[in-house]
Amino acid sequence: MIIVLKDNFTQKEHDDIIKFIKERGAEAHVSAGIEKNIIGVIGNKRSLEISSISALPGVEKAIPILEPYKLTSRKFHPRSSIVKVGNVEFGGTEPVIIAGPCSVESEEQIWEIANEVGATGGHVLRGGIFKPRSSPYSFQGVGKEGANWLNDAAKHNGLQIISEVMDDKDIDVLYDKVDIFQVGARNMQNFRLLKLLGKTDKPVLLKRGISATLTEFLMSAEYILYEGNNNVILCERGIRTFVEYSRNTLDINVIPMVKNVSHLPIIVDPSHATGKTELITPVTLGALAAGADGFIVEIHPKPHEAVSDGHQSLNFTKYRELLNKWSMIKESIISLRELTNEAAEIESY
Ligand code: PEP
Ligand code: MN
Repeated sequence: MIIVLKDNFTQKEHDDIIKFIKERGAEAHVSAGIEKNIIGVIGNKRSLEISSISALPGVEKAIPILEPYKLTSRKFHPRSSIVKVGNVEFGGTEPVIIAGPCSVESEEQIWEIANEVGATGGHVLRGGIFKPRSSPYSFQGVGKEGANWLNDAAKHNGLQIISEVMDDKDIDVLYDKVDIFQVGARNMQNFRLLKLLGKTDKPVLLKRGISATLTEFLMSAEYILYEGNNNVILCERGIRTFVEYSRNTLDINVIPMVKNVSHLPIIVDPSHATGKTELITPVTLGALAAGADGFIVEIHPKPHEAVSDGHQSLNFTKYRELLNKWSMIKESIISLRELTNEAAEIESY
């Protein structure tokens, strides 16, 4: 259930409502907005009746939330969330550009790529240090040492850093080296990992599992928010379908759908979604037009020499072509984003 407070509620009324909820064995999550203050009630539904809550002083209305996800729901948090990472904003005016190699391979490689991402106006450098591979025989990542290279190369270029973590050890190793923890598609339902990340103070990019429904995706985000970390960015990276010409299928529908039901920002990963360099640019532009808050793309100076995912990595020429096309439509898309966002927020009040 969510409780919407009256505009003129007093601090005492607010505190009394929280006390009322806690005394009945439920938890209260407060969301202070510009227009409305909302309290999310979680757990122990039976002891809390909508009618009794509605009668408390300071309460405008109490509404049941039927979806299993609460903290990620737009009903709980009508304004779109902006996840700030240094000077970069996910869900802000401008879509965020994340680029880099699938895997950090060497110091030289990551510097060359970081320089390219920095020089062409990118915001965040990606690079896998610990790689979740489908085969135990495939390259598993350079490990610890690579985190220093990644950090130095990114910071030199004024870029934020994202890298994947698979367990508590990775979190410890990467904590001081990255700005965003990535949860890969294969770990979307690794609930222990999600809980650990919920206890950190670092933003998390949560990738959608290859066959996850929207509810499952949002329930995974819910784990992180429930533990206290509200800085979650969703990522649609393609789902598995019967289509045989691409690695996965980018579910473009999910972008406006997430905007309807959740306040969290959502970006797309056209590299893993398509698995083909020639599909990356049109798919990225389409996703941005559909409202994506950014994209994460794999690039490599010599894709044919990449140790992982070279077949879906843009070389620098192709990467610049993508950026050029993006700059041609950017202003129109930014105007469109403002209108769409306003409509979503107004509808949920
Ligand atoms: C990656 O970003 O390199 C990766 C492994 O992605 P995903 O988890 O989406 O497969
Ligand atoms: Mn990859």
